[in-house]
Formats: sequence, structure tokens, C-alpha cells
Amino acid sequence: MTASETGLSSGVTTALGTAPSPGAVPAPAPSPASRALRLVVLGRQGSGKGTQAVRLAECYGVPHISTGDAFRSAVRSGSELGAKAKVFMETGELVPDDLTVGIVEEYLAGAGQHGFILDGFPRNVRQAEALARMLAPARLDVVVNLEVSTEEVLRRLAGRRVCTNCGANYNVVDNPPSVPGRCDVCGGAVAQRADDTEEAIRQRLEIYESATAPLVDWYKEEGLLATVDATGDPDLVTERVVAAIDAATGSL
Ligand code: ADP
Ligand code: ZN
Repeated sequence: MTASETGLSSGVTTALGTAPSPGAVPAPAPSPASRALRLVVLGRQGSGKGTQAVRLAECYGVPHISTGDAFRSAVRSGSELGAKAKVFMETGELVPDDLTVGIVEEYLAGAGQHGFILDGFPRNVRQAEALARMLAPARLDVVVNLEVSTEEVLRRLAGRRVCTNCGANYNVVDNPPSVPGRCDVCGGAVAQRADDTEEAIRQRLEIYESATAPLVDWYKEEGLLATVDATGDPDLVTERVVAAIDAATGSL
């Protein structure tokens, strides 16, 4: 699939790029001598995966590649890919592997060739196998698994609001934008996601258990898994994740 077919032109790079999180301090550029991090973040809907992935991308100076953001951006752009993906996203189903693997391949050959934070991919064993093939002979450095209770993810998802322009995440209870309905980062409209209905959330959590959770054992067997407690203050979670990455990788 080419960039023109997918609609993944420069506009999408912004959606996939490292949108600054509110209050985050830009990280220094990585030294050219250091090898860039190749990381996957796993975690259920509402685990804070997107928020943490954006911060890690800043911290380690590598692009944030979110398949969910890429699909939402494709839907907004009205591309053929967007039209195909929309049907699945609205009901909380996975977008078919051939479409999903294609866009990741495109990003890993381009912006992600010197390291990346993958958020929302892989989501099943077939995608994980495809990722391993794309990277060979290199491999991932570490897979971070963000753990949160079901009770907590349901609470977070009910209050989740997202900037329709830059993707910044808010929560009406814990972390509302300073001006209601306006993004602190870019001033865009902050709204509930179309797939954050009760029914679509239930469906996504079920698919996570059946299709994505098996990846935890898969990566554990490969010796790549680092499990992190994702409850509590987002800054503390970031600290735990960075400590886990540094422990797993030594100094890259
Ligand atoms: P969430 O983690 O809350 O489900 P995402 O933003 O990661 O949200 O994904 C939104 C939707 O995009 C998913 O429900 C699915 O339809 C689609 N999607 C994202 N990543 C993938 C993937 N790796 N494989 C298949 N579908 C995906
Ligand atoms: Zn915004």
C-alpha cells in the first residue's frame, strides 16, 4: 500500500508524531552515538497507554506510532483506508490485520527506522509475528505492560475526553482541560471519542482479553516483558516505566 492510498501523508505524521503533553518538558535530543529505543507499550483501554507513550517518545527522542491515532486521522482525511477502518472502529472491532500491518510497515520504513514507541500495535499474535519479521534481524528492546484493575479502567474510560485535533487525553474527573471543551495544548475541540460508548468499550475490552492479552505471555517467553503498575499519578507511572525500561535495556 502506498502513502497516497492510505492517506498517510505528512498530515498524519503530525498525528503520529510526539504531540506535546500538557506540562511536559521537552527532552534533550538523543546523542547520535546512542542506539534508539524500539519499544512496544501494551495495556488495556484506559490503562493510560497513549499518555505514557507520548511522554516516552519525548523522553527517548523517538517517534510515537499509534495505530489508533493513524486510523482516526485517516477517517478524518476521508481516505480509502479511513473509510475501511471506520466500520470496524465504530463497533470496537479490530481493523483487519492486512490494513494495520501495512500502515505500521510504512512507518517503520520511514519515521520509525531509528527507533520508535509503538502504541496499539501489535494487538494479536499475528501482528506480533509480522512485527518481528519487519524488524529482523533487529528486535524489540523491551515491551512494557501497563497493569490496571478492571474497575479502574471502566472509571477512566467513562470520563475520557480526547482532543479531536492533536489527540491529547483528558478526563472530566481527574484531568479536565483548563477551559471546558478546549485543548490546553492546541486549542482544538475536546470531545468524547465516537468509540467510547458503553457497548463499544465492552467490546474492545473483550477483544483485548481474547486477542491482545495472550501477547503478555508471548513476550514474557521472549524475555522482553516489563510489567509496570499503572495506577496512581501519571507522573509516577512515567517514572516507573522509565525505570523499567532502563533496567531492561541498560544504557542504550
Ligand atoms: P483503544 O486502545 O482505546 O481501543 P486505540 O486508539 O488504540 O484505542 O484504537 C482505536 C481503534 O482502532 C480500535 O478499537 C481498532 O478498531 C483500531 N485499531 C487500533 N490499533 C489496531 C491494531 N493494531 N489492529 C487492529 N485494529 C486496531
Ligand atoms: Zn489538542
